[in-house]
Amino acid sequence: MAISSIRTLLIEDNPADALVLREALADVPEAGFELEWVDGLAKGLHRLNAGHVDLLLLDLHLPESRGLATFATAHDCAPSVPVIVLTGLDDRELALKAVRDGAQDYLVKGQFEAASLVRAMQHAVVRHRMQAETVGPTWKDDLTGLYNRHGFLVLGEQLLRLADTAKCTLTLFYTDVDGLKNINQTHGREEGDAALLAVAQAMRKIAGESDLLARVGEDEFVLMGISYTGTPRQNLKAALDEALKQIVTQQPRSYPLTVNWGVSVYDPGKPTAIAVLMKRAEAQVHPGPQCLDA
Ligand SMILES: [Mg+2]
Repeated sequence: MAISSIRTLLIEDNPADALVLREALADVPEAGFELEWVDGLAKGLHRLNAGHVDLLLLDLHLPESRGLATFATAHDCAPSVPVIVLTGLDDRELALKAVRDGAQDYLVKGQFEAASLVRAMQHAVVRHRMQAETVGPTWKDDLTGLYNRHGFLVLGEQLLRLADTAKCTLTLFYTDVDGLKNINQTHGREEGDAALLAVAQAMRKIAGESDLLARVGEDEFVLMGISYTGTPRQNLKAALDEALKQIVTQQPRSYPLTVNWGVSVYDPGKPTAIAVLMKRAEAQVHPGPQCLDA
């Protein structure tokens, strides 16, 4: 892909803001950006799912989703697409949080010239590509040594394609440690980390060699189990209960260590994205509106 043909998707609900970007890019046709604009998150996710997007310009405040959740949803949907978030003047802190979570850069609306816009867009694509080439360590979670969310999304997507070819069933098992915040506040951060390590250890114990295990949030883990027989691995729940029980017996705690869980099954006959599969399992733990579950 030449740097001069970057297919850019703009998700922006304000037509005036979209027009400013379109006109700024029209001022520098030699930069060769192809801009496609959609005015909502659902339309944007649909477009991202269709593929062939090289760069995403994302307004964080949309009618269906606001703030960091907008970035998380879009990034989960297309983890290999670099993102520049668009924010208002008073949103710099939010923009920096998005960068911390994996956005390449941010632009403050009304505060950029065409030249700086193009430079930011080109840098975002080049930097993202360089990071992708040296991505190893950022796929891992520092505390547990498991894959992190990004690692899970990328490897999970590959596992889905493998399941499509080999006609395997995948069972995604999503767990959420109960009351981590409380443990941190009452017993200290070290105890909270110890609880997370215990859960990670319990999940490692039940995971098979070809299963994918990751810590995908502060207190959230996923295990994706592959089944060549076509029977979903629903028995993982009982196995996890047993593994946790053993850990609690070996290392007694002054508080109960419990996890909530949800499960979703991938049927290669009905392909779907990894983020959708994860949301379905997560929805059983945290019921609420699910943007991706369309
Ligand atoms: Mg907006």
